[in-house]
Formats: sequence, C-alpha cells, structure tokens
Amino acid sequence: MATIDVLRSLTPEVSGILKKGGYFGGVAKDLRHDTTTTRKLKAAIEAKNHRLLEDMWSNNPDMLSSLPQFQTCKENLNKTDLDRIQKEIRKKPKDQRTFERRIDRSYLTAPSRLERIERSEGHVSGLVKEQRKARKEKFKFKIWRNDANPCDMCKALEGQKRKINEPYSNGSYVAHAHPQCKCFDEYI
Ligand SMILES: [Zn+2]
Ligand SMILES: [Zn+2]
Repeated sequence: MATIDVLRSLTPEVSGILKKGGYFGGVAKDLRHDTTTTRKLKAAIEAKNHRLLEDMWSNNPDMLSSLPQFQTCKENLNKTDLDRIQKEIRKKPKDQRTFERRIDRSYLTAPSRLERIERSEGHVSGLVKEQRKARKEKFKFKIWRNDANPCDMCKALEGQKRKINEPYSNGSYVAHAHPQCKCFDEYI
C-alpha cells in the first residue's frame, strides 16, 4: 500500500537526521535541547505527512474537509511523532540499528495508524458524492440520520439539522462520526 510506504520511508530519514546530530554511539543527548535536530525532524515529518495525505485522498478537497480525522491527522501527527522519537531515543541501547528496529515496530510507521482513516474512506466518499448531487439539486439542509443499531456517539448526532454547507457539531461535513460508522445524510 502506497500510504504505508510513505510512512516506512520515514524511519531511515529520521535515523539519518539523528545520526548527523550525533545521537548514536554512546553520547547521551537530550532531543528537547537540540533545536537544530528537532527542527530537521519536524520538517521531515511534516513533509511525509503532507505526501501521505496527498496519496490517501489524491488531493480531493471535498473529501478532506469532510473528514474530522484529517484535521486530527494534520495537527497532531507531527507532535505525536516527535514525542515518540524522544521516548525511543531515551531508551538504551542507543545504537542506530536498534533504534530503527524499534521505530519500525512502533506506532510511527505502523499500518494500524492509518487503517482507521482508510477504512472510513469508502463511507465518506459515498456521502461526499451524494452531497455534491444534493447541492446541485438545490437542497438547502441536511439532517444526520442513524442506521440500525447506532452507537451512543452516533445516537447523539441523530436528527441534527444543518445548512448544507455547514459542518455538524462533530466538525464533519457529512454524517460520519468514526470508522465503520453507517450513518447517512438526509437532504431537505
Ligand atoms: Zn456510531
Ligand atoms: Zn454513525
């Protein structure tokens, strides 16, 4: 899967940056106080995140704005990733290969990290398509509707009415609350 490959290519990049910063080979260094290395790591992670999101949704702006997860992804991955790297780097032994192995097995490049979002893609793209059609047909409002057996989160959203171009209270532009959500929009 292309998205996962983007993530995988982060490991050698991260460890290369750390190696140049002198993190491997026994010298104890604290990443928090090394602004140059931290800045380089941030830039690398941001570039990967950008490519990742482009790959995942092929720059579909409708889709992106419809996914509350996209915002979460955009704002949090960078900080979360740096926190993970800092945590890993404090562990011993501090050699490059061990570090890379740990990172490979960690959340940083784990497929599970984006599976949640990818699983939502089908549901969201269907809803986005319907919404585009509803706009063309001049519908003015949308109402959040539950499928059979909704969870508590979805139940709380049932019946919420919004103007067609405004987000629901969960930030989503279509009736999508979580992975495997089966809610849908009613247009009036
Ligand atoms: Zn639900
Ligand atoms: Zn739902």
